[in-house]
Amino acid sequence: MNKIHAIALIVFLINPLNILAELSGYPGEIYALKVENQEISSNLIIKIDGDSYELIPLPFNKQGKTIKVNDRDILIKEKDFGESRITITNTSMVNLSSEDSQRAIRESKIIKKAINTYSRDMKSDFNFIKPVKGIISSQYGKRRYINDSPRSPHLALDIAAVSGTDIVAPEKGRVILIGNFFYAGKYMIIDHGHGLLTSYSHLSMINVNENQFIEKGQKVGEVGSTGRVTGPHLHWTVYLNKIRINPESIIQDNFLQSIL
Ligand SMILES: [Zn+2]
Repeated sequence: MNKIHAIALIVFLINPLNILAELSGYPGEIYALKVENQEISSNLIIKIDGDSYELIPLPFNKQGKTIKVNDRDILIKEKDFGESRITITNTSMVNLSSEDSQRAIRESKIIKKAINTYSRDMKSDFNFIKPVKGIISSQYGKRRYINDSPRSPHLALDIAAVSGTDIVAPEKGRVILIGNFFYAGKYMIIDHGHGLLTSYSHLSMINVNENQFIEKGQKVGEVGSTGRVTGPHLHWTVYLNKIRINPESIIQDNFLQSIL
């Protein structure tokens, strides 16, 4: 055994976990896994500088665990995103009547079905722009408390702006769902292709139609306070393969380069 082998063996013996967790990332991020054979996966594959990468969304709810992709383990590291406490004085929006509760269940099925959309007629270059000018009022990943009781984490980005502020498409796409829902209020989903979708909640106005193709930067609606809210804001969700990812990371400049 030469010196280098001896050092490698010692590192392996004293720190095996780090070696096993060679691939890792934070919840809500996208992991770019270099691939040779493009036929092996239904995940989004994108070419950067001549190399192919499979884009893997890292689920928030798998923190501290590994996910397996093409026989590779990717560790999702733990991260503290902080907490957010909101008060909703209209208790009928918190403790639902059976009618409202059935409506919410019905609507969540409609939304879930749309989230499953995987179209191949478009492909994003991941050059997203922020859909609305405003102040970020709640970030991705925060532990949520409504009237002091714990709720599901906030896996979206809230951007606060006055009612009527323009919302534009962050990337080209096609509108696949428009609705007026109990929690989300006036709502829409845009499909950007290959499992990349964005959704928009609490709008006051929607300026596009279902199935309409839209350009990046095109106005799609206006900020409002419909559904369950404490004030006017856009609740913006970004999905990749049905996993809610961190919208703030995708709007940064040179996003794809940043994940290599
Ligand atoms: Zn929100």
